[in-house]
Amino acid sequence: MTELLYFDDCYIKEWTTTVEKAKKKGKQVVLQKSAFYPEGGGQPTDKGYLYANGKKFRVHRVEKRGKDVWHYLDRGRVDEGTEVKAELDWDRRYKHMRMHSAQHLLSAILLDHYDAATAGNQIHTEYSRMDFNPFDPTEEDLEFIEEKFNELVDDGRELKKYIVDRERVPELVEDPKRLRLFKRVPDFVKRIRIVEIVGVDKDPCAGTHVKNTNEIGHLHIRDTENKGKNITRLVFDLYEP
Ligand SMILES: [Zn+2]
Repeated sequence: MTELLYFDDCYIKEWTTTVEKAKKKGKQVVLQKSAFYPEGGGQPTDKGYLYANGKKFRVHRVEKRGKDVWHYLDRGRVDEGTEVKAELDWDRRYKHMRMHSAQHLLSAILLDHYDAATAGNQIHTEYSRMDFNPFDPTEEDLEFIEEKFNELVDDGRELKKYIVDRERVPELVEDPKRLRLFKRVPDFVKRIRIVEIVGVDKDPCAGTHVKNTNEIGHLHIRDTENKGKNITRLVFDLYEP
């Protein structure tokens, strides 16, 4: 079982830990503690390095299976019980954190001003896409969304995260539109993590976020695509803050 370091602190870049399991001649390993974000929920895998026995191993893919996080190495071998130093490709991860936080902001703006729900998403380091339903924007709408987004970035809103018992969610998240998102969390999840953008939004999320909207940077909507059935895709990138 891997302790997920990014869950409590998304800014951990280096740590030491022990290899809990190894297979494929020491090319796939489970770490006791890991800050590597495994591919999922529209966010690509983290990459980085492990240092063990005086050698450097490249981590090119990370996958969560059950309670274990598996790290795929470019070569062997790293055995069970080995002490390792781990290091994230921080440039890549931080871009994903900004993009993912941008998704929260965009989702909130579209929900509040257009009653449009998020129907899909995929982020990358340089651009991302989100699908909204129902949504059929004009040029003015797109300008409004960019302006609103950039205002919230300039405001420097704090992003907070906290874990609460499921029963407490209705008293903490009063907005019925947002409560619906919490109802989608599978029943077996008894404790839910809320990610709050102060004064803007509350969402259930286990992902990686920046601490403040001013780290995200301004929004640039590159393109829109009509995906049919009242769904519009926004393709966007972010300026450096
Ligand atoms: Zn999130």
